[in-house]
Amino acid sequence: MAVMETEADVQSIFVQEASLSGLDGGMNIAHEAVDRHVAQGHGDSIAIRWFGKTGNRRDVSYADLSEMSSRFAHLLHDHGCGRGDSVFALMGRVPELYAAALGTLKAGMVFTPLFSAFGPEPIRTRMEIGAAKVLVTTAKTYQRKIAKWRAELPSLKLVLILGDDAPEGCIALGPAMAAAAPDFQTVRTAPEDRALIHFTSGTTGKPKGAVHVHGAVLYHAYSGKLALDLMPGTIYWCTADPGWVTGTSYGIVAPLVNRVTMIVDEAEFDLARWYSLVQDEGVEVWYSAPTAIRMMMRAGAEAAAPYDFSKLRFLASVGEPLNPEAVVWSEKVFGQPFHDNWWQTETGGIMIANRPGEPVKPGSMGRPLPGITAGVVERYDGRLRELPSGEIGELALRPGWPSMMRSYLHEQGRYGKCFVDGWYLSGDLAMRDADGYFWFVGRADDLIKTSGHLIGPFEVESALIEHEAVAEAGVIGLPDETAGEVVKAYVTLNPGFDASDALERSIRGHARKKLGPAVAPTAVVFRQTLPKTRSGKIMRRLLKARELGLPEGDISTLESDET
Ligand code: ATP
Ligand code: MG
Repeated sequence: MAVMETEADVQSIFVQEASLSGLDGGMNIAHEAVDRHVAQGHGDSIAIRWFGKTGNRRDVSYADLSEMSSRFAHLLHDHGCGRGDSVFALMGRVPELYAAALGTLKAGMVFTPLFSAFGPEPIRTRMEIGAAKVLVTTAKTYQRKIAKWRAELPSLKLVLILGDDAPEGCIALGPAMAAAAPDFQTVRTAPEDRALIHFTSGTTGKPKGAVHVHGAVLYHAYSGKLALDLMPGTIYWCTADPGWVTGTSYGIVAPLVNRVTMIVDEAEFDLARWYSLVQDEGVEVWYSAPTAIRMMMRAGAEAAAPYDFSKLRFLASVGEPLNPEAVVWSEKVFGQPFHDNWWQTETGGIMIANRPGEPVKPGSMGRPLPGITAGVVERYDGRLRELPSGEIGELALRPGWPSMMRSYLHEQGRYGKCFVDGWYLSGDLAMRDADGYFWFVGRADDLIKTSGHLIGPFEVESALIEHEAVAEAGVIGLPDETAGEVVKAYVTLNPGFDASDALERSIRGHARKKLGPAVAPTAVVFRQTLPKTRSGKIMRRLLKARELGLPEGDISTLESDET
């Protein structure tokens, strides 16, 4: 593990690697991501290669993006909005979303992208928490989800509507952008000025608003290079929506700062569409998530066989533990394994990664990036101690990297509790092996204690999906008088398999063989789908609450429901 000597060293390595131009002593993400490249003569390079839902496509060059974002910034200023004001976006992945994000940053304002499929309540709560002053959305979304309560959100002064027409009380973005001046003097923000607020996925409870600053761009530039192999001209596809932190940090900022060509697909997951995009556009670096990878696996290697994936040079995955099976499978099908990496909304950027060129241990998240110090810690007497390799404890990081959150919006107490004894506590459990590789065990909340054993759901789920019939698995602990807790599994099946008692026995038998009787589930239940967040994370707390008849808690990010 690379440990830097002092904080100054840590900062200097990021600065050196990132090679940004700065902004007259200030720091602004949009300047580094777009305008700097145009100033250096790369305006004609393609920034966004966009694919619309209905088959249309559009190339947006760095010069185009610079101009679009400048017009957007002007528009905001022309309407009396200024430094520090909050802009929310609620729309699909269209070029205007990217222009709005960058324009907001140029204007010195704070950007919050929300996933467009949210219902009215989750939108309202987040806009209230973030004191939204501006909303950019579509007419349909506005009418369906916002209009009814707009008057009750006094902070909201300006609603911009995609396209040429707008409902009453709103402004149509098309003509307004066309009328705005195409050049804009980017506001000279300081590295510590607020830039982005991202809400967490809500997997473990009510989403938190993590505040990020302009200085984070250093770390995005750096980690984009080191962990994702992004270089000028790389054809890169991050499948995450900007409504989640991955879709902004590595779906807007890191790729643009590294001057890549980003593929942006407006449509949702569709196997044939995805494989065709990777093949036809010659995608070189692909950043996706375990849910999507498991869907590819479910369709089988045969579905991938007709495609040519020879341009792919690096594949990475984040968001959930990546089952070893998925690593092995992807290597077979794409000629490259998916490289797992770990980070959180709070960390703003990739912390632990299987980096290009380093040996992959399937099931491991890899090692901390140079400059990042990670440890496995345990609490004792209100303090923390670092555990030796091989032991399970909480995954913690030494604070100090530029993309770390600066606060949780309106939750100072909660933020404060994340820091103990000079460590940031992630809330995840992990183990470090003798080679310095980190292995995810589970969320601290999801740990199962049975007959004196500590079991992480990930280990059990990974064993279950190795059974030929199992596509996905969610594992929880249920209270039990003798064992303390017993392990229960919920699974979905691969095509061609039907739920039956015999299959249940076969899956349990497989798990017992892999894991031993103490760890294997005592019951396996079949489901059509598992409850997941809209960003694709299995919500184990919901499986548990439903099983025990407890309140479901915050389900604002719930995507599909159990059937
Ligand atoms: P909330 O904090 O609201 O419960 P969340 O933690 O899911 O939601 P995110 O910040 O989007 O919100 O996700 C970060 C979390 O996702 C990590 O703390 C970890 O639990 C999980 N995660 C991310 N990457 C990985 C990975 N490679 N392996 C295992 N878990 C991962
Ligand atoms: Mg979290």
